[in-house]
Amino acid sequence: MAGEPQDDCLFCKIVGGQIPATIVRETETTVAFRDINPQAPTHVLVIPKAHYANAADLAVEEPGTAADILREARAVADDDHLESYRIVFNTGAGAGQTVFHAHAHVLGGRGMQWPPG
Ligand code: AMP
Ligand code: ZN
Repeated sequence: MAGEPQDDCLFCKIVGGQIPATIVRETETTVAFRDINPQAPTHVLVIPKAHYANAADLAVEEPGTAADILREARAVADDDHLESYRIVFNTGAGAGQTVFHAHAHVLGGRGMQWPPG
């Protein structure tokens, strides 16, 4: 069924507590934790507890949870006192997605280039 935990999914295991993470925020529908390989002083991943392969699939199936991800991304930025920050949804291997459970990268605390690499 859509959204069910997947046995072979790293982020489902973080949601389930089988793999540890530095969790900074949690809601009924989302978890936010620090990226293990940070690319900025603040680098937090905000994920839905439900399993969807990417952010667009999540938005189609659970639009309310997709909105929760954005709300939580702002809360992460507020918690870390960031005036500016970047929210990234890598979608597809060619765009750098390596974990196929929807997640927002919240990056901040340093200058950002545009266009991104
Ligand atoms: P993406 O490449 O967009 O799929 O992002 C996946 C992110 O997950 C990468 O930035 C990884 O550094 C991060 N990551 C992988 N394993 C862990 C973990 N166990 N705890 C926290 N972050 C992780
Ligand atoms: Zn998953």
